Amino acid sequence: MDKYSILKKYFGYPSFREGQELMIDSILNGQDVLGIMPTGAGKSICYQVPALLLPGITIVISPLISLMKDQVQSLNQAGIHAAYINSSLTESQISKALRLAAAGQYKIIYAAPERLETYEFMQFAYQAEISMLTVDEAHCISQWGQDFRPSYLKIVQFVRRLEKRPVISAFTATATEKVKEDILCVLGLLNPRTLVTGFDRKNLYFAVETPAKKDIYTMRYIKEHEAESGIIYCSTRKNVDKLYEKLAAAGVLAAKYHAGLGNEERRQNQEDFIYDKKPVMVATNAFGMGIDKSNVRYVIHYNMPQSLENYYQEAGRAGRDGEPSECILLYSAQDVVVSRFLLDSKEPNDEQTREEAAQVRERDEERLRAMTRYCQTTDCLRGYILRYFGENGQLRCENCRNCTREYEETDITKEAQKIISCILEVRQRYGINVTAGMLAGESRAKLREYGVSQYEAFGSLKEYKENEIKAMIQVLLAEGLLLMTADRYSLLKVLSGADEVMQGNRQVIWKKAKQNPQQAASEKKTDKNSLRRSDLLNSKGLELFERLRALRMEIAREKSVPPYVIFSDKTLVDMCVKAPFEKQEMMKVTGVGENKYEWYGERFLKVIFEFSGGEREKYYFGETDPVQPRSEYVQQGTARAKKADFYLTKDQAERFPYAERYLAAEIAEQLNELRDEQTTKKTSGAELFRRMQAEEYAGEKRINGIWKKYVTNKGQEAGLFIGMRSSRTGKEYEDIYYGEKAQRMIVEHMIKM
Ligand code: ADP
Repeated sequence: MDKYSILKKYFGYPSFREGQELMIDSILNGQDVLGIMPTGAGKSICYQVPALLLPGITIVISPLISLMKDQVQSLNQAGIHAAYINSSLTESQISKALRLAAAGQYKIIYAAPERLETYEFMQFAYQAEISMLTVDEAHCISQWGQDFRPSYLKIVQFVRRLEKRPVISAFTATATEKVKEDILCVLGLLNPRTLVTGFDRKNLYFAVETPAKKDIYTMRYIKEHEAESGIIYCSTRKNVDKLYEKLAAAGVLAAKYHAGLGNEERRQNQEDFIYDKKPVMVATNAFGMGIDKSNVRYVIHYNMPQSLENYYQEAGRAGRDGEPSECILLYSAQDVVVSRFLLDSKEPNDEQTREEAAQVRERDEERLRAMTRYCQTTDCLRGYILRYFGENGQLRCENCRNCTREYEETDITKEAQKIISCILEVRQRYGINVTAGMLAGESRAKLREYGVSQYEAFGSLKEYKENEIKAMIQVLLAEGLLLMTADRYSLLKVLSGADEVMQGNRQVIWKKAKQNPQQAASEKKTDKNSLRRSDLLNSKGLELFERLRALRMEIAREKSVPPYVIFSDKTLVDMCVKAPFEKQEMMKVTGVGENKYEWYGERFLKVIFEFSGGEREKYYFGETDPVQPRSEYVQQGTARAKKADFYLTKDQAERFPYAERYLAAEIAEQLNELRDEQTTKKTSGAELFRRMQAEEYAGEKRINGIWKKYVTNKGQEAGLFIGMRSSRTGKEYEDIYYGEKAQRMIVEHMIKM
């Protein structure tokens, strides 16, 4: 058999994903590999497929007992002989498993690193033919990472003791450059093939919401996503208990998890969640390590975590099956205060010198600031995360709240000048609270203590609420005009770029979300369903899906395995789409391999046949099979938002009011007037300009610290030209105008037949 037949036969997939083949081929050629791939990318296939093709046994080192069990169950369900050896087994069970392993009963054996130095395991290793050693969660070997496990160092000694060195393959989802070097070096990989696929998880939708009442928001969200599985992370045990009580009182099937519960209770609750008996889990961050549940459809953070590292890891537990899933962070200013308090009360580590402790503290502070900026940015959230992890984040992903939200742009140059003057006047000695309070003309005790009323800036922005002023200060921070000091006082300092603003040479724009966040959750309902099964499947299709789900649950109970180990949600959806009546058709469903077909294919066929009364019917919307090309939908971002990207019909385009000259924003305004609001997203001046840049009609460059737009020769020919405008403060500056010829070109471009 070759790798393709293995993939289809055991795993039921028609093709490999990006990077998988490279890893598999290298291993089969005897080369060590290191795969750094995000959660859900499909690392397991990278070593499981070659494990079946190599002559001997593959040993997989994994740090987590629950993960091993899950993996082994999945393999067994696919018809692959595998076993795990860890402390959850009794001595005699371990002996038996090792005996069977030595006799060649298993192709894949999962083991905890501590096992490697036991006498029994070593005896087995001497007898057996070990073709490959796989190190899962390989970052645990690095002392630089957050999850260092000293027992991982035993792997190196183990390999040295073997007579014949097996191929070594290592995989991880998290690796900075330092951790990567550590893995390569400590594990002693020989001339390894390294693969780093991006960190981006295209199927995840990111959002930050600021609801007035988080519990009401959460409750509504859960109700709107009934029958879907989700995790709600809270920062404290108390919050977990409180929210859990509320959910339980409202009749939500939820489980809870935190370190304050007894072992047995925790185990039971975790199992209820994994086995889909209780679809919602409310937990502290103690929950989740080693949870491999693939159909978690949403992760809500009830509080802001302390770093983006934590956030991305926790949020990343959504959508491991590659299906669209949502990661929502509920932010309130109070979260920052609590996080800072938690940092302050962190016990210093005895082994650290004072300097080291200060460094760690500084690093934690910086992480917290980056996390806070994520909650406040109006830019693309995905782009923000990716840039944080050192990748080139795109400017717009069209699959996060910020990209799909509509903004109102206000010129706040004048207000910015007042803020900057204020900070200079107080000689940069105060933080955001005092500054905003002073500008708003507040007189609380604390402000009186500082004597703020004696400054000229006092009350100079009193037409605004304090919160609005804070938001404007955030804009200036984000624009790099101000800086907040990295110490605990977080003082506001003025940066050099502020001069331009003071002189009126630079405009400051405040992008404000148009919607009130309270409306967001329900509005998103229509929006978010679009990529989900409820948008793919029509009402009969959904009914069939529920029948198949019930059958899956029945089988899972019989076998005592989690339902997703039988078939993923994606597979069930594809069954509804293809609605197979016989084996040949069923084998085309994604995720249906030979063995699974043998075991339960007929039971599913029967349900489908009986449901449809033997008549071929269509259970999905649209003309073509909607399941296959879905990953492309996500990339293009057109499917999540129900509305299509901006376009005009020919008739609409004919009504465009051409004029001698327009600015891009004016063209966008006219275009938006013409479009069909119900079905088409808005365009904007910025978007039109981006297109012009992409087509090289125009561009932007920084001259003496100021961004200036320019028109290329090609642009001039097309009717673009530079003209003067004046800002609200009366300063003149250059901008691009579009003559009639250019307007026609743009309108033509927007027409969809
Ligand atoms: P990781 O370990 O990288 O987090 P997994 O190995 O758990 O990811 O795989 C994530 C999901 O993707 C699983 O449901 C797996 O079956 C699925 N998957 C992996 N490879 C493929 C493939 N080539 N085609 C379709 N689905 C795949």
